[in-house]
Amino acid sequence: MDQQFIEGWDKAPNLLGEGAFGEVHLLTNRATGEAVAMKVIDTRIHAGVYEQARKEFTIHRRLDNDSIIRVYGVRKEPPLMYLFLEYAPGGELYDKIEPDVGLPQLEAQRYFRQIIGGVEYLHRLGIAHRDLKPENILLDNHDNIKISDFGMATIFRLNGVERKLDKRCGTLPYIAPEVLRGPYRAEPADLWSCGVILVALLTGELPWDEPTPTQPEYRGWRDGKIGRPPWVKVDSLALGLLQRLLQHAAGRRATVQTIRDSAWFKRRLRSDGDRWSLDGCPPPPARGGADDVPSFSQPAAGADELLLGTQFQNTQPGTASSQTPLQRLVKRMTRFFVTTNQAETLDRLKELFDSCGYTWRFTGSCTMTVQTLDRRKMPLTFKASVLDMTDHVLVDFRLSKGCGLDFKRHFIRIKQKLPDILLNVPVNWSVAAATNSVP
Ligand code: AMP
Repeated sequence: MDQQFIEGWDKAPNLLGEGAFGEVHLLTNRATGEAVAMKVIDTRIHAGVYEQARKEFTIHRRLDNDSIIRVYGVRKEPPLMYLFLEYAPGGELYDKIEPDVGLPQLEAQRYFRQIIGGVEYLHRLGIAHRDLKPENILLDNHDNIKISDFGMATIFRLNGVERKLDKRCGTLPYIAPEVLRGPYRAEPADLWSCGVILVALLTGELPWDEPTPTQPEYRGWRDGKIGRPPWVKVDSLALGLLQRLLQHAAGRRATVQTIRDSAWFKRRLRSDGDRWSLDGCPPPPARGGADDVPSFSQPAAGADELLLGTQFQNTQPGTASSQTPLQRLVKRMTRFFVTTNQAETLDRLKELFDSCGYTWRFTGSCTMTVQTLDRRKMPLTFKASVLDMTDHVLVDFRLSKGCGLDFKRHFIRIKQKLPDILLNVPVNWSVAAATNSVP
């Protein structure tokens, strides 16, 4: 059951996700059906969280671009802070990537073009994101990317004067080598992360744990050894672009303009049945449209903090009621139906998690939180919820912390170990949305 969070707005029982400083919830407007994501920030987590959250909002509210999640307002209720964000119902980009395989080139190119468009917009405003990775790239209802999480963002250019940055931040496999040494220029560092994202999109793997000479994978790349995965999985045009993007010397790295001019970026691809090949170009999926998630007006310029009630009165009338229940559920691929009932399914999962050597505990009557290590021996945490739907039982896996690609590898392995109870029906999103209730 939804609970009223503030007047007229209900908080869905199922979480959208978890961030470093708290949970992300879905709020829906009772009267209009409008949906927003609410990021809860617990300022007690450490001393700097309040300032960091303030900075995140201050930077984020300046942004107004289709490839960037919009922020509508902030509400302070010490020790908690709430950020109200445009809701991205399409899930996270990593969820689209098949581990060790990647995406068809056409899809990878479409996402990458949009990412570069969003990053170019940020850089034009003098803002660096500093934590670009597929886990921070969300998708809207039309599969268009929405760059999110401005918790590490900073201003690197003001009134035409650029400053070098020195804070080491980001996520190690995506971080540029100079960020580990500092000080560094903002734009090339973000574009390096885009290069690693492109490797993930095209190959389903990350090229190295971190870009330091002690890492054999990175040393090999720097020495031009490209006869091994992931490099052997990409064609020469993509490799040409990657060689310019993942250029150790920041000064020689590709710029947005050289990326745009590169043969791979400009290449016209077409879908040919199941195969994706050169030449011809399908019409790009439209941005927006009648059944789009309703748009909200931006915070008024100059207002430093906006209360939810006030802010949402500015909502465009007539857009929200078009939203269907389908649009209110994040579309995740990491779900499947089973033939067993809820109790039997939980028993199977307990057994399976024990046999995989996972550490797990119940964090709700039908939700288990699982902890393990990823390929890089970094912590990986995910949640498995067993949901009793009208006709079937749905098992839903959600990443809480760690590498999205490795989380998907674990999901695939778990699914493969349950062949006797898998029900081969696609998830019907509207039914799921109507009955979904994760404790
Ligand atoms: P963050 O704290 O920004 O890293 O968000 C944590 C997780 O919450 C993300 O990885 C998403 O799964 C989910 N999430 C964050 N923002 C949104 C949003 N605007 N719409 C839908 N899901 C979101």
